[in-house]
Amino acid sequence: MIIAIDGPAAAGKGTLARRLAEHLGLRHLDTGLLYRATGLAVLEAGGDPADAQAAARAAQALDPARLADPALRSERVGAAASVVAAIPAVRAALLDFQRDFAHRPPGAVLDGRDIGTVVCPEADAKLFVTASLEARAERRWKEAVARGEPISFARILADMKERDARDANRSLAPLIPAADATVIDTSALDADSAFAAALAAIRD
Ligand code: C5P
Repeated sequence: MIIAIDGPAAAGKGTLARRLAEHLGLRHLDTGLLYRATGLAVLEAGGDPADAQAAARAAQALDPARLADPALRSERVGAAASVVAAIPAVRAALLDFQRDFAHRPPGAVLDGRDIGTVVCPEADAKLFVTASLEARAERRWKEAVARGEPISFARILADMKERDARDANRSLAPLIPAADATVIDTSALDADSAFAAALAAIRD
């Protein structure tokens, strides 16, 4: 069984994906970490995330063991991730890893931006989890404060707006709901209600 969960940053898809995977006995992959690890590798090498060759090399050399690195969570790395994610050679280099992960038994929950549209269009269930820009920025800001990251709400809001636009407007694998996805808006939902809505959609 493969469950595809797509949506913009901080819509709650990560929490939902982890919970669904645990509940259904499936493996879980946060595919954003692949792009974050690629962006971080370029930054660490002193490169520019917009440099297509450097970013493609970093994606091809990606070590899955690095996906657990807490440094991947920062806003700076998230911004670099969305820049490398617009480079076709980066997306191509990361595709097989995601598909292999999805198809290994007993199946998996993958969350990202293009899982239902590009990575696993054959998924058994597709959810598009979204929320208002303000609700998402507030969640990210609270997470950054909890991590001790010195960043203002206004800055997070502006960065998120820019990242949404880049993810939605890129020519390859843009952020759009698959035609057969169920849309769940979590602006006014807590984690339990979002989980219940997702389970109901999957059972359908
Ligand atoms: O979900 P997260 O914020 O960790 O993703 C970081 C960036 O990686 C996103 O802004 C997006 O540009 C990119 N991404 C993507 N496709 C995916 C997952 C993430 O393009 N499947």
